[in-house]
Parts: sequence; C-alpha cells; structure tokens
Amino acid sequence: MNKTAFKTNNMKIQNYINGEFVNPIQDDWLENYNPAIGEVYGQTPNSSIEDVEKAYQAAATAFLSWRQTTVVERSEILIKIANLILDKIHLLAAAESKDNGKPIGLATEIDIPRAAANFQFFANAITQFSSEAHESIGMHAVNFTLRQPLGVVGCISPWNLPLYLFTWKIAPAIAAGNCVVAKPSEITPMTAFLLGDICNEAGLPKGVLNIVHGLGNTTGKAIVSHPNIKAISFTGGTETGAQIARIAAPMFKKLSLELGGKNPNIIFQDCNYEKMMAATVRSSFTNQGQICLCGSRILVEKTIYAQFKNDFVQRVSDLIVGNPSAENINIGALVSKAHLEKVKFYIDIAADEGGVILFGGNKVVVEGSEHGYYLQPTVIEVADNKCKLNQEEIFGPVVTIMPFNSDAEALHLANESRYGLSATLWTNNLNRTLQFSKELQTGIVWVNSWMLRDLRTPFGGQKDSGVGREGGFEALRFFTEPKNICIQYE
Ligand code: NAD
Repeated sequence: MNKTAFKTNNMKIQNYINGEFVNPIQDDWLENYNPAIGEVYGQTPNSSIEDVEKAYQAAATAFLSWRQTTVVERSEILIKIANLILDKIHLLAAAESKDNGKPIGLATEIDIPRAAANFQFFANAITQFSSEAHESIGMHAVNFTLRQPLGVVGCISPWNLPLYLFTWKIAPAIAAGNCVVAKPSEITPMTAFLLGDICNEAGLPKGVLNIVHGLGNTTGKAIVSHPNIKAISFTGGTETGAQIARIAAPMFKKLSLELGGKNPNIIFQDCNYEKMMAATVRSSFTNQGQICLCGSRILVEKTIYAQFKNDFVQRVSDLIVGNPSAENINIGALVSKAHLEKVKFYIDIAADEGGVILFGGNKVVVEGSEHGYYLQPTVIEVADNKCKLNQEEIFGPVVTIMPFNSDAEALHLANESRYGLSATLWTNNLNRTLQFSKELQTGIVWVNSWMLRDLRTPFGGQKDSGVGREGGFEALRFFTEPKNICIQYE
C-alpha cells in the first residue's frame, strides 16, 4: 500500500484479513467524508456476514499458534507496533485529522501518541500480569488460577478518538494471547486501515488482528452475533450498547461496554480559580466537545457564579474555529453533517427549555472550507437540571452552566442523571473531596484536574455509562478466562 495514499481524493480503504488487504466480498462500499470541507474523499467497505466469517476463520486459525507464544514474544511485537506508530506520527495524525475533523495539533499531541502508548503499556503489563494461588489449609489442597486467552474476540470502536480507542481494545486483547476481529467506526476508518500495514511491518503473525470495515447494523452486528466470537469489547453510544447486549447476553459472551456520558464539572469557590478556568475551557471544548469525558454540565457555587460566567464566556470567545489542518486553531470541524445537525438541534431547543445562550450557538463558515461542519463553541445557562440539555448526551461543543448553593445541592445535581461516566471536582477542601469521591455515582472522579490518564487505572462508567472496566489489569482480566485448578495432596 502507498502509505501517503490518504492524501489523494479517491482513496479506497480495504479490509485487513489474514495479513492481506482485500475488498469486501459483495463489493458494497460506503462514502468516506472529509468533514473539514464536507466532501467525499474515499470509499470504505460495508462488509457483510461473509467478510466477518472470513475474518473469524483467519483469527481462529492464527489462534492455534498465537496462544502458544511466550509473553516476551508478544510483548516484543507490541513494542514494535508502538514504535512504528511513533515513526509515522505525522502521517497518522494527518490522516486522523482529515477523517475526523479534529485539529492536527490535537491528533499529533494526543491521539497518535496515545495509540502508541496503548501498545507500549500492554506490552509491559502482560509481562507483569499474574494470577492467584491459594493454599487451602485443612483441605490439604492448593488452588491456583490459570488465566487463558478467550480465543477470538470482537472489538468495536467509535469515531471520536479513532485510533486511540481502537488500539485501547486491540492491544490488551492480543497481548493476552487472543486473536481479534475488529471494526472501527465507518465514519472514521482511515487510521485503522493504516494500522494493518504497521502490524505487517512489525511482524504480527497473519490473522492475529483482522480489521473489517462497515456499518454497525451490518458488519458490527455480524461480529456481535457470531457464535464463536467469545467476547465483545465495545465503546460507543448507550443505545448501541443496549442493542449489543440484547444479542450478546443470551449467547453468554463476555461483554465490556463503555458508553455515553453527561459529566458534571463541579466548581467550588475555594478552588485554584486560574487552573480551574483553563482546565474547564479544555474539558468543555477539546475535540469539539466530542469526548465521552468532556464536562458538559458545569455546576458553579453561587458565590462565584457571576464572576465565573463572565470570565468563562470571555475565554470561550477567544477560541478560534477553523480548518483542522491549520496549526493555530482551537476547534476544528464536527465529525459529520448528521452529527452537526444533532448538536444544532439541542442549541435550537435551548429557549424552549428555559435556557439562555450566553455565547455561540451558530454554525461557522470557514473561509476556503465553506461546506465544512463547523459550529461555534456554545455556552448555555440553564435553570433546571431536568431539562433535555442537561439530561441528554449532546456530544458536541456545547456546555451548560448553572449555580448551586450547597454541597448537598451540588451532589444532588451531579448525580441526577442516567449517566455515570466521570465527574470533575474543583475544591481545596479535603473533607469535601473525600465526601464527593465517595458519593459521586461515576466511574472516574478527577479532583483539581481533567483527563489525567494513568493507564494502570480502571476505566469505565456506572449506570447507563456502561458495564465493566478497561485499563490496566482490568483489561487483561477481561480478555482472559480464569480457570481454578484444585490439587489435593496426600
Ligand atoms: P455508536 O454507538 O453509533 O457507534 C460505535 C461503534 O459501534 C461504531 O463502530 C458503529 O459502527 C458500531 N455499531 C453501531 N451499531 C451497532 C450494532 N447494532 N451492532 C454492533 N456495532 C454497532 O457511537 P458513535 O456515534 O460512534 O460514538 C459516540 C458515542 O460513543 C457517544 O455516546 C460517546 O459518549 C461514546 N463514547 C464512549 C466512550 C467511553 O469510554 N465510555 C468513549 C468514546 C465515546
């Protein structure tokens, strides 16, 4: 494959099966858009059940030998993949930015380094992963746990952090000795396609990783429904997660579901105001607000509410919206026209919901990229936490702000949501920090920080934000089957 081919305007992405790049069997294709200019720039396979079966067969055959490899052999290949990703950082960042609309600087500084870090981390973690042994005194027995790879597993990822989240699943799966059938989002397939080439160059044996492209309802469903794919690791929307669970649960598959969020950002008067303000601008609008961890509900202590409102709007008004390939912009294009319209819908109902738009709210026409999907960063003041703007996931550059009077009220508002992915807390009060850490119904609580990620920590959500945890040994536990061996001695 010509590795700079994504720069052309008629790029045909192919499936990666058994180490080879192949067209979909039924010759069915989807259009791939460049959101910065609103134009089609390539085609992506819409893979069928037959393509998924072919990928499964390749994975099942590869598993016979991959499961016998030593952790050191696997680890060395993962490190090679990580290094190759870093070698090609500019190529991959440009591809990610073009496919997704995210600023090139963000792709270069965050997305692609993190994809490399995922392989690097699990290359090391697998060498430290161990299982338990129990001496059962009185029974004259010793128990130990074997942790064996599951076999062929399915990994399905979304469009917002394409290579970052795709590799977050694949790296632990193959590190633990599984073979994978993976599907990136059909909206952002490009860097997953480029990863196939990197895996070949790193010497990953054929069939260990197979990448099939296509729609959720066709390709994704075929992976989830496959009778011999033992586990599904999925990141995406809550409704999709429920559909997947309806199919996979009665088949007794292992399921890891990382779903939507509506994360509270709780700000107390006693915080470090400057640090909070800079982080809050980032946690609101990084990646056009299209990160499941963005703090989309900003709750501010009444005593500093007026000042916060004024300063925050001022900071937001300084953000530059522009073509994602430009270095000096803060906010690029939203991922698709359909998504732009969805986000705009919420802005348009703000007044009916009792909201007041304090800044933004409009589409932006970027000179030279007039048909791109651009939106102003938008700040809406709301009065009622039960309004749609505060209860439904918008997943765009839109945040709401509202005041609270007491710790109890802040906690109540934060937890009054079907979602429970993450929360951010700004305070220097130790008792309050511990109280909120205990009581917030979320999988992650950031205190005086946002999006600080140590890959050893468990990652995931409560309530409708998901089931299970990824990250660190949690991911390696998910991708292995524990088996208890009990030996009695004389
Ligand atoms: P989505 O649910 O529409 O799609 C995610 C993936 O699932 C895509 O690859 C899609 O093709 C596939 N898919 C869709 N329907 C399917 C089906 N019936 N069977 C199998 N696969 C199917 O989500 P999206 O719009 O791509 O991503 C945005 C969502 O992802 C947001 O809700 C966001 O909060 C969530 N997200 C969550 C996390 C997290 O870690 N919790 C991280 C990033 C994004």
